Amino acid sequence: MWRASVLTIFPEMFPGPLGLSLAGKALAAGVWSLDVVDIRSFATGRHRSVDDTPAGGGPGMVMRPDVLSRAIDAVAADERPRLLLSPRGMPLTQGRVQKLAAGAGAVLVCGRFEGVDERVIAGRGLEEVSIGDYVLSGGELAAMVLIDAGVRLLPGVMGASVSCAEESFAGGLLEYPQYTRPRLWEGQPIPTILLSGDHAKIAAWRRHEAERLTRERRPDLWGRGTPGAN
Ligand code: SAM
Repeated sequence: MWRASVLTIFPEMFPGPLGLSLAGKALAAGVWSLDVVDIRSFATGRHRSVDDTPAGGGPGMVMRPDVLSRAIDAVAADERPRLLLSPRGMPLTQGRVQKLAAGAGAVLVCGRFEGVDERVIAGRGLEEVSIGDYVLSGGELAAMVLIDAGVRLLPGVMGASVSCAEESFAGGLLEYPQYTRPRLWEGQPIPTILLSGDHAKIAAWRRHEAERLTRERRPDLWGRGTPGAN
């Protein structure tokens, strides 16, 4: 079973949306498991503080390494990667998600405040992962994004596995445009080729559209060795 352990000061945020739809059904079916560790339960002292002022001054607060390391150490040491959600991290990609989904799971540390003390990142071998070039107020939503992207790739979670083989980023391309009934909507017809029944022509049209969209919207992906790009 694929295991996600999430360390957070807001355990009540989980499973949240992960308890619904595909991920929720897979969770109920035992395809994956979720354990949520309340970082605050490892704090000591009257106020059970998990944070303190930044060394050197400046705004905000920083998560304390002693409290956070105790929470991390309470999670069974196994082969799962220990990830720290962080805007400074390597951007999460579909390739990285595929590798994570193929493994045993992940330990996910959710930062808050101005972030976490640098020493705990090195001391506990945390790999920093970003979900995009913007700043969230905490790592919890980022952890949910990562888990959702991983869980849907686990065997048996998505009905037709072909849908995963053809979607955006598979083969380095964005997905082609999709249509469904009605055939005519607000004066816009479904492209006639999709109604032709000619599977070879449909596949060629989809490939062409996927390449066009990738070139137009994501020249960075198109230039990155996309088949057909030059
Ligand atoms: N001061 C930090 C900086 O400038 O890099 C931002 C801290 S942010 C307000 C608090 C927490 O939200 C971070 O420690 C991290 O866990 C999470 N977070 C924010 N943006 C993120 C992103 N793009 N990807 C992943 N986690 C993010």
